[in-house]
Amino acid sequence: MTETDCIFCKIIAGELPSTKIYENDTTLAFMDIGPIAKGHVLVVPKKHREMITDTEPEILAGIMTVTKMVSQAQIDGMNADGVNITQANGAVAGQVVPHLHFHVIPRFKDDGVDFNWQAQNYSDNEEMIEFAEKIKKEFRQNDLKR
Ligand code: 5GP
Ligand code: ZN
Repeated sequence: MTETDCIFCKIIAGELPSTKIYENDTTLAFMDIGPIAKGHVLVVPKKHREMITDTEPEILAGIMTVTKMVSQAQIDGMNADGVNITQANGAVAGQVVPHLHFHVIPRFKDDGVDFNWQAQNYSDNEEMIEFAEKIKKEFRQNDLKR
């Protein structure tokens, strides 16, 4: 998908309607039309980026700042008791719209929202360390790749 047929790029350009919450030079926050809970907001970079791994650290820093602002505003403005931040990268992870977005979901005591998060087990500590090593070996000092 390119910027020209990306629905979030069209929202950012004002070619598709949206209910905006906040914007600055780099970031837009707007209401999700299919909310997991009422008040569910999406925070997106204004530049088209698909996944977190495609996105420059400075852009991510701006997104996280706005994500914090939205979270605080949901707590203060909706009396939310808490907030979930979630974000999918790739279709296999459940990403439907291939323009990076952070979901900011207000939570209330006994709201019934269910992320169906089912914990699994490692067979033993060695297996966990094997996975840790696969991840750790990709880290380079001062190298975020973008
Ligand atoms: P994903 O599954 O990719 O993490 O989330 C995509 C989100 O975008 C969904 O929560 C969906 O409701 C929302 N969405 C899809 N199309 C539109 C749209 O045209 N406008 C708005 N405001 N949200 C959308
Ligand atoms: Zn886009």
